[in-house]
Amino acid sequence: MTETYVCAHCQATVERSYEVRSLIRTCDECGENGRFLHRSLVDSLESLPAEQLPEDWESMALDDRFEAALKEGLIQLTRE
Ligand SMILES: [Zn+2]
Repeated sequence: MTETYVCAHCQATVERSYEVRSLIRTCDECGENGRFLHRSLVDSLESLPAEQLPEDWESMALDDRFEAALKEGLIQLTRE
C-alpha cells in the first residue's frame, strides 16, 4: 500500500509507504524545497465549490490553497 503526495509547486507526485498530511522535501521535478500534500487533501481542495473560494485561488500554490481552505473552514482534517 503506497500513498501519493503532490508537489505544491508543480504537482509532480511521489509515493511513500506511510500516510501523513504532508511531506517537506526537495522536488525532483521543479527543484523547490517545499511541501508535498497527500493526494486526498489535493482531491478535497479540487472538489470545493467555486463560489466559496478566495478570489486569488487560481494563482495560489497548493499549500497556500490548503492553508486558506483550512482557515476558511472549507475542509476539515479527519485524521492526523
Ligand atoms: Zn515540484
